[in-house]
Amino acid sequence: MDPLALMIGKLQHRAQITREAFPHRNVVSYFELMAGYLQQVCSAGRQGLPLAWVGLFTPVEIFYAMGIVPFVVEYFAMLLVSETDCTPYLDAAAGYGLPADTCSLHKLVMGMALKKALPPPDLLITTAQTCDTTLKSFECLQNHYGCATFFIDFPYADTTAAFAYYRDELKALMAFLTSTTGRILEPSRLESTVRASYVAGRHFHRINQLKRRVPAPVSFREALRHFGLHLLMPGLAACSDYFAMAVQEAERRAEDNHSRARQRHRLLWLYVPVPFGRLYEWMERSHGAYVVMDTMSYSADSTGDFRDPLDYLTRKAFDQFITAQFCRPIETFQQDVIRMIREYRIDACIYLAHIGCKQGCGAISMVKAAVRDACAVPFLTLNCDIADPTVVSDRQLQERLEGFMEMLDLHREDREVLG
Ligand code: SF4
Repeated sequence: MDPLALMIGKLQHRAQITREAFPHRNVVSYFELMAGYLQQVCSAGRQGLPLAWVGLFTPVEIFYAMGIVPFVVEYFAMLLVSETDCTPYLDAAAGYGLPADTCSLHKLVMGMALKKALPPPDLLITTAQTCDTTLKSFECLQNHYGCATFFIDFPYADTTAAFAYYRDELKALMAFLTSTTGRILEPSRLESTVRASYVAGRHFHRINQLKRRVPAPVSFREALRHFGLHLLMPGLAACSDYFAMAVQEAERRAEDNHSRARQRHRLLWLYVPVPFGRLYEWMERSHGAYVVMDTMSYSADSTGDFRDPLDYLTRKAFDQFITAQFCRPIETFQQDVIRMIREYRIDACIYLAHIGCKQGCGAISMVKAAVRDACAVPFLTLNCDIADPTVVSDRQLQERLEGFMEMLDLHREDREVLG
């Protein structure tokens, strides 16, 4: 089945059953927004709008302001894994020659391209921010589709010169988009899009602050939904409205304290989440173990000046979406992890070693050593392939975690006995 149609159907069905059974408007809104986003991807050609396939962390605000539809393909691959068996696409990518140890999200994207399962792009744009693999994988897509392609370079530092360099990259991106699509970027349109992105970002940050409460008022599943919208739709008014509702809901729950007894262990999830199966619900239900913070959600509390759109988009790129952890020296990542452990009163860390993610796996031993030296919080490395449950299944992940959870239970009982 057409993967976009499959996902749209699933999301619309979820919106409907959630509306009937569950009072939280922001959850319904998430499913509706995500379905609407994918419908826009499907209908871009019919509406005469250019369709750009973009890599993770591409500044999509610029595309929205220009009436170009930005389709974040790696994120779509992750959504699809949560809903269906993607083996045919992985097989197609292997047949094309992508090595087995390539990140499977990129293999999935290439597989869908080869099998003509997605609307073809008019443009391809990606960024060197955080993900190494994306540059090569977009080169393969460029070879396949032969369409205009732009790579945004990202500096390995946070200095004034690096800031100016990235600002110039954004200017070059805007010039590229105008020259390839003929669309003009109206300054007022960019300003209003960036203002909406700023509002959503402030709400996102407020939710992160609320997660410091004990018990944390936001589940990991919700945090992942927030991350998805923050990544795909910043700059759209509907996205800002969603976050306003999500903040209200989190504040209400923080006042309620309703889940205090159930939250026995506060976990920090390091790096990418497991999209398939029900691992997080199992951890919460069976062990009272809640992921209260994760590297995808964590960001510095800084924002550029939204009245200067380029300044805002540059600061955002430097401070959000695991950029600080993966585009700077390892010490930045280590210090951020220690900060998260302290600020969010973390009992244990779980680091997902996703096969194929070179930068994610390469950092594990150094982060683990820093945690051991600074605060001796238990640290588990969990091997997995996030887009291929045939490598390690949901059941096997639970079995692997069972012993770790028992150890956390014993730790907690000891602490309670010792006062
Ligand atoms: S898991 Fe790693 S390699 Fe794969 S898309 Fe994410 S950052 Fe890139």
